[in-house]
Amino acid sequence: MRSERPDVARAYIRYRYKKEVARNFEHDFIDAVVEKLEASDVQNQNANIDEHSFGGRTGEATGVMTKRLALDHLMSEKSRENHLNNRIYIHDLDAYYVGSHNCLSIPFDDLLAKGFNTRQTDVRPAGSVNTACQLVAVIFQLQSLQQFGGVSATHIDWTMVPYIRKSFYKHFCDGMKYIEDGNTNCAALGLEPKDISIVGDFYKGFSNCEKAYEYAMDMTEKEVHQAVEGLYHNLNTLQSRSGNQLPFTSINYGTCTLPEGRMFTKALLEVSIEGLGRLHKTSIFPCGIFQCMKDVNREPGDPNYDLYRLALESTSRRLYPNYANVDWSGNAGYDRNNPETYFSTMGCRTVNGADINAEPGVNPQTKDGRGNICPVTIIMPTLAMEAKEKEGNIVENFMIILDEAIHDARDMLIERYNWICSQDASSAKFMYENNVMRGYHPEQGIRSALQHGTIVIGQLGLAETLQILIGCDHTEPRGMELAKRIEALFKQRCAEFKKEYHLNFGVYYTPAENLCYTALKKFREKYGVMENISDKDFFTNSMHVPVWHKLSPFDKIDIESQLTGYSNAGCITYVELDASVVHNPDALEQIVNYAMDKDIPYFAVNVPSDTCLSCGYTGEINDKCPMCGSEKVQHLRRVTGYLTGDYKTAFNFGKQDEVHHRIKHTGQMEQ
Ligand SMILES: [Zn+2]
Repeated sequence: MRSERPDVARAYIRYRYKKEVARNFEHDFIDAVVEKLEASDVQNQNANIDEHSFGGRTGEATGVMTKRLALDHLMSEKSRENHLNNRIYIHDLDAYYVGSHNCLSIPFDDLLAKGFNTRQTDVRPAGSVNTACQLVAVIFQLQSLQQFGGVSATHIDWTMVPYIRKSFYKHFCDGMKYIEDGNTNCAALGLEPKDISIVGDFYKGFSNCEKAYEYAMDMTEKEVHQAVEGLYHNLNTLQSRSGNQLPFTSINYGTCTLPEGRMFTKALLEVSIEGLGRLHKTSIFPCGIFQCMKDVNREPGDPNYDLYRLALESTSRRLYPNYANVDWSGNAGYDRNNPETYFSTMGCRTVNGADINAEPGVNPQTKDGRGNICPVTIIMPTLAMEAKEKEGNIVENFMIILDEAIHDARDMLIERYNWICSQDASSAKFMYENNVMRGYHPEQGIRSALQHGTIVIGQLGLAETLQILIGCDHTEPRGMELAKRIEALFKQRCAEFKKEYHLNFGVYYTPAENLCYTALKKFREKYGVMENISDKDFFTNSMHVPVWHKLSPFDKIDIESQLTGYSNAGCITYVELDASVVHNPDALEQIVNYAMDKDIPYFAVNVPSDTCLSCGYTGEINDKCPMCGSEKVQHLRRVTGYLTGDYKTAFNFGKQDEVHHRIKHTGQMEQ
């Protein structure tokens, strides 16, 4: 600097500084990649991914790169800033750059009836319920490789009816041949497959056919049970995505009143109750969802009421099934004669609302072949702190900031949606060639299919936000009043965007499995520890009542049901119960009925489900197994909608802390 050319010196200093920044950047980057490759700091961002496995390490290391590239070299500055500043979170950033989408409800009726193509071969239509169940597992796995989120079957009991009939027909013909006189056969009697079914007395009038019928029924029931066992086993063993995770599978069922459909639902529940493997452990996948429907299964005397009772028994012991409300007001316009339009959900909670781009003749509430394309989540506590720092009324400041953030979220979603639409169909051949995501017209590009999906604005930490704004949460009337004003703004804006852009914008009550923890950490770094706001290791999920409140299950339902109507893209309400419900199915039924009658769309019950890994005892186990004294115990808990393995090893720290703060609502039953 003291030389003749200080400008050169200055330029050199700048150059040195830039080099250092770049070098540090490279160092940080390599450190981050190595950390993932060596699994030296496992965070359990997603309870279903094994970050220690070879595949998991490769995937996580790749994620470091793809996330950074998406942030620094692909998205707009607005998106990046909102994401990095803990305001609007972009989910599944590692999948951003390749342009894959989130989740899908699979049109199993079509795929099983027509067969499908894969890269190496083609698969014929299913000829029996056994084959159909195997194909369901295969299709789930294939589709999960074309996207980054979950896969679902929306009405699997209906889907299986034709294949159970096929199996029954085969068994009946066998029965005729082997059990009867050896000469009688179906063809000789003029009986065709269409005549032969589980219902009716088609066999009457033919001598000795009754025995063949009984034989066929017996064999069919056994086959269905075995096929369902196989399905559960496959979905808990067939690892996907480089072998580091099981596909997130969900199956909805319970409304089919045909004997075949009922047989299938019964088997699903029986196998769920029996458990899997040597110790009869609770099955982690599929996430079972029982569809409650008036006049079908809700009341004694309804044709499927017995199955509802069986579902409750399964829930009390195995946490699954959860409950979807087919009569939910938000699914109005569905067709009672078309189970594809019944309310169904992804296990995590994502829902396909009415499709603004439904093709002519297609009911907009059709779920199959559609899914969520991408979500973002508004971290509301950050916005509340911004409102606090401004002059003027904090609540009014917040409403303005939130409105701006909702508009930003819209822009961020459209930006990503357009990027996803710009991908080539060859990136997801199975999905597009087989019409798994429906509506693909090659001449119009993949946008023709993606336009039926939803793009959703999520939210995190309503309870903490209200604490910042007015010093109480929505368990108090004035908190609820403001909560409704906030949710109404989300709903109104999403409805406007849907019309204006002709895209399925929706309000989403985000699961935020990892985000509840990471957003809190960032928040605390900036604003410190604040009572009831950042003094725990997690933000409260979406609009949920904080888990530490002492309430009866009915009170919790009363509070959350006032807000679920604002969300059309997915929400879940759950209550914490103790092990006593196992012996009290009537109490459990009363609680689920209460939720359904309060118009809750998707409801789940958390009961302790621990398994002793030495003797197989299940129930609530604290430190030692009460049967054999073993300390090897699997503590199963619900993460977001799904279950996972032992929460003490599979959950992130924030979620573990949340589990410790969960207060059982059963103790408050009498209030
Ligand atoms: Zn034991």
